[in-house]
Amino acid sequence: METTVDLTIQKIRDGLSPRANWFPPATTGYSAISRSYFWSSSRKDPLGILQPATVEDVAAILLNLAGAPDELTFAIKAGGHIAPTGFNATAGLLIDMSLFHNIHYDATTQLVEIGPGALYEAVYIYLAKHGRTVNGATSCPGVGVAGFNLGGGYGNKSNQYGLAMDTIQAIEVVLPTGQIKKVSAQQDPEIFRALKGGGNNFGIVTRWFMTTYEEKGFYFKSLNFEREHFKEVQKAIWSYIQKQDPKSNVETKFEWTTTTAGQTEPYAFSHTELFYDGKTPPAGLFAEFLDIDQIKERKQKSTWHGMMKHLPTRRQTYAGELANNLNDLPENFRGRYTHVMLSRYTQELIAYAVDRVEEVGNKLEENGGLQLYPDIWPGYPKMFENSPPSAWPRPPNKQPSFPLPIRCLWKGSQNDAFWLETLERLTNDIRTFAVQQGCTTKDAPAYYNLSLDGTNVEDIYRENLGPLSKLRGELDPHGVMDRTGGFRIPPIWVQK
Ligand SMILES: Cc1cc2nc3c(=O)[nH]c(=O)nc-3n(C[C@H](O)[C@H](O)[C@H](O)COP(=O)(O)OP(=O)(O)OC[C@H]3O[C@@H](n4cnc5c(N)ncnc54)[C@H](O)[C@@H]3O)c2cc1C
Repeated sequence: METTVDLTIQKIRDGLSPRANWFPPATTGYSAISRSYFWSSSRKDPLGILQPATVEDVAAILLNLAGAPDELTFAIKAGGHIAPTGFNATAGLLIDMSLFHNIHYDATTQLVEIGPGALYEAVYIYLAKHGRTVNGATSCPGVGVAGFNLGGGYGNKSNQYGLAMDTIQAIEVVLPTGQIKKVSAQQDPEIFRALKGGGNNFGIVTRWFMTTYEEKGFYFKSLNFEREHFKEVQKAIWSYIQKQDPKSNVETKFEWTTTTAGQTEPYAFSHTELFYDGKTPPAGLFAEFLDIDQIKERKQKSTWHGMMKHLPTRRQTYAGELANNLNDLPENFRGRYTHVMLSRYTQELIAYAVDRVEEVGNKLEENGGLQLYPDIWPGYPKMFENSPPSAWPRPPNKQPSFPLPIRCLWKGSQNDAFWLETLERLTNDIRTFAVQQGCTTKDAPAYYNLSLDGTNVEDIYRENLGPLSKLRGELDPHGVMDRTGGFRIPPIWVQK
């Protein structure tokens, strides 16, 4: 006998437009989509996968979910890169947004319209043809526009323009009640604000309208250094921080990896990416990095296409590009990001973060570990000078706030508990040291996109949580978004 879950799904399917797709288990589409996540730890086996094709499809799905049996969960998937489990995958109904991949540049408004199924690399490559670019994700191919923008979005141009969400001019969203709205600073400003950093709490986004900037070419160079140069690299980071150039960005990973063929101990090396928004950086800006002996000189890049092709793909560690017989990651790696939010660095904090990660990195192989690194990624003091209000609170007086991300990959679900506990401990230790150094405060809001499972929503939204809860109560009277995973803002329902 059919269950009411089956009947709900059937009803949803019956209401979809002809271009929409439905992939039940054991179909090619099902296998491909339910496996296409960055982290294999994200994967789940859904009851079936829906690919809506129109905004009306999305509205019909949410309307039907409002009256569905309680046990029917769902998940929304864009680029599939968020790490905590259950955020973009489900054992219920998976809503895959891939058909919303349209990108359109309007030369009159100089805004780009982007579907939430698009990946950032496609946006850059499309816009380059128009001599334009956006302030989006840059560090890795495959990151989706939707998840990145909904969580905030730190990229190569954040020092100059703030977060990706700060450069959004309007958003088309289907509210949990099925209502379709285009919101902006002028139209429904409360909802507009709530969507910027609010994750998947307020419905399903169906279109972004983002500011574009003139693209005149840039400077991008990646450098790799052996373990013996770690102290010099740390000094180079410190020298770079003193120069405070908003058009530049520098990220340095200190990586431990066990993918090295024939080696019994983890291989440690450092990887730095130098970015400048202009073909030629000011003389000396990156000098201290360029003076250190590199493992293998790599060519400088000046186009998005070139840079994206140059960045490691899903199964490559940064070591994969070195000529010393390093293997790719296994297909089914598991993993997480964690982070500490900072307002500034000290030399001591850089050294502490690297040394503390090294203690764990040196024993990586004991629990199936594959890769571990802290990413020293300093932010410019005035990065939020022009940032408009958002759900995610920024520090008062436009102070900077940027993550020190830590990434860990491992194999085997039996190792999940070990690594999740280890990452939590590592994060707490580095945060405690950073507080002692005056580089952050205990209550600095956590960054949605790089937070560990179980992070408290209070720790993300701080003083904004109350108003956001009230808004959620108004916009989601049936608690539809409670059926999906994410850092959930509790709704406050007011009786009318
Ligand atoms: C390799 C890698 C590099 C990264 N680099 C950076 C970086 O440089 N800077 C940074 O800030 N972050 C970075 N991140 C984190 C990244 O910003 C988040 O993982 C982001 O959520 C990815 O977006 P997505 O669309 O790929 O993810 P998905 O996993 O598809 O989606 C993320 C969340 O958004 C929800 N969602 C997706 N689409 C919609 C929609 N249309 N409406 C409502 N909700 C939706 C999903 O349900 C899910 O909860 C990186 C992650 C990885 C794995």
